[in-house]
Amino acid sequence: MRGRHLTLALLATAALGTSACQTVQTTAPGAVGIERKQRMLISEEQVEAGAQEAYAQEKAKAQQQGKLNSNSALTSRVRNVAQRLIPQTGVFRSDAPNWEWEVNTLTTDDLNAYCMPGGKIMVYTGLVEKLKLSDAELAAVLGHEMAHALREHSRERISRAYAQQLALAGVALVTGAGQNVVDLANMVASVTFQLPHSREQESEADIMGLELMARAGYDPNAAVSVWKKMLQANSSGPPEFLSTHPSPQTRIQDLQALVPKVMPLYERAKS
Ligand SMILES: [Zn+2]
Repeated sequence: MRGRHLTLALLATAALGTSACQTVQTTAPGAVGIERKQRMLISEEQVEAGAQEAYAQEKAKAQQQGKLNSNSALTSRVRNVAQRLIPQTGVFRSDAPNWEWEVNTLTTDDLNAYCMPGGKIMVYTGLVEKLKLSDAELAAVLGHEMAHALREHSRERISRAYAQQLALAGVALVTGAGQNVVDLANMVASVTFQLPHSREQESEADIMGLELMARAGYDPNAAVSVWKKMLQANSSGPPEFLSTHPSPQTRIQDLQALVPKVMPLYERAKS
């Protein structure tokens, strides 16, 4: 039933053509002042349904391999940091603190972490262990990934891919991706694992993540040190996290410049 419902919704979109494109403000600006409007071709509900399915698949795969939350100390550490960050998301969107957040770890040497739409977080143990992340550095990574979800960057990426498809194939929606939950899950997975975010989205996630960590009482300077660690790790071939997160040198400078802006939030949260 759900698939049918989604198909009908998308056919309605097709009937309206690209003019059905919706311009939205996903988040409030916060202290850092992010105000970019985004063009969306599919609904938040559709993307979240796809994300739930994609995340369930990732968890099941990890579980089968005995790699889901297999390091319980590390998992509870990651969860504790996430639990401090989640209430802060309300600054940017009032619905977010009540999302069905999930925080899990995958045992692997890869350096990666992601937050799928709707708050489905996975942290790879290699990232925490190989880079020897402090809690504040972990908060920087989590804040960055959570910001992608708050800003609905995946929905925006899928919408862009979808618009290109529409432009190329006219009314190819009937056979195009995104008709049902399985297709949407595949699209969320490919956005999460294959397609890099745009420079603009990365910068937004850095900026918003910095405010989230500061408000949660984590020293925002750790956002700078974590990216320096990533750069160093980069010498032995690009880690996965970097291949989907371009231009580390520039972002380190940008983050450094922004730290003073969120410092008062950190000082207030600390006291
Ligand atoms: Zn990112």
